[in-house]
Amino acid sequence: MDNFYLNPPRYDSIRKKMAQIKKNNPQIKLFCIGQSILKRRIYALGIGNLKNAVLFTGAIHAQEWLTCSLLLRFFEELSEKHELYGVDLNDIFTNRGLIVVPMCNPDGVEIALGGPKTAKQLCSPIQFIMKKSNQSWQANARGVDLNHNFDAGWKQLKQLECSKGIKSPSPRQYGGICPQSEPETKALVALCNNFDIKKVIAFHSQGEEIYYYYGKNTPAESALMADALAASSGYEVCQPTGLASHGGFKDWFINSKCRPGFTIEIGKGQNPLPIEMLEPIYDRLKEMLVIATLL
Ligand SMILES: [Zn+2]
Repeated sequence: MDNFYLNPPRYDSIRKKMAQIKKNNPQIKLFCIGQSILKRRIYALGIGNLKNAVLFTGAIHAQEWLTCSLLLRFFEELSEKHELYGVDLNDIFTNRGLIVVPMCNPDGVEIALGGPKTAKQLCSPIQFIMKKSNQSWQANARGVDLNHNFDAGWKQLKQLECSKGIKSPSPRQYGGICPQSEPETKALVALCNNFDIKKVIAFHSQGEEIYYYYGKNTPAESALMADALAASSGYEVCQPTGLASHGGFKDWFINSKCRPGFTIEIGKGQNPLPIEMLEPIYDRLKEMLVIATLL
């Protein structure tokens, strides 16, 4: 097993891994979709026809970095093989494509794995936020929860946040001063707009759950797709409640594009799920990831 998959994914190591995947297969596209608050680049890998692409995203929440490792593990295998589960990959990628953004929140993941000092000039404000709350860090380097920052029911979510006393930058669940205020959020929105992305699957941890619904713009076929993903993985199809019910990436995608968007909560346990869970989770979800690429 490649050492990369035996350790939590640090920013420098994912840059090297993505460059290696690209080097091993010149048809792969490696590109930057934007920058974080601390000017770390947010990278994407693409395979196939990117004019008709599904998008997989990982690590929008800092503690959920195992999703980054999972997506790179899958993408690397896809880029090396000609066939998976009897599916001819050369054939399917003639007409369709897959874009993977494994680490949407690089500053947050660095804070989660290396502490506030990784945030350089923002070390002191982060330490200040951490002192006010004993919750583990899920946000970006400004204390904004990126999955509360999208323009989908943002005001309703803000009311819910305020009712729970979350009114300023926090380790989690603070949605920012306005929708899409954060560069990481803007980068994902721009990627969907620029590539006219057809479907989104946002990977989170944990819970072994699949979410597909956000209001009246949810396409009719989304429920069937969620059932197919659930049948393959054994995960449960669920409806979001409380603070997870607005402002997320899949919510924005469904609401603004009227196309299928999903959140998949990988694994079970307490975040951060340990790196040792990568292989068992990958074994269980590999077929589902192929299906998700084909849907
Ligand atoms: Zn999450």
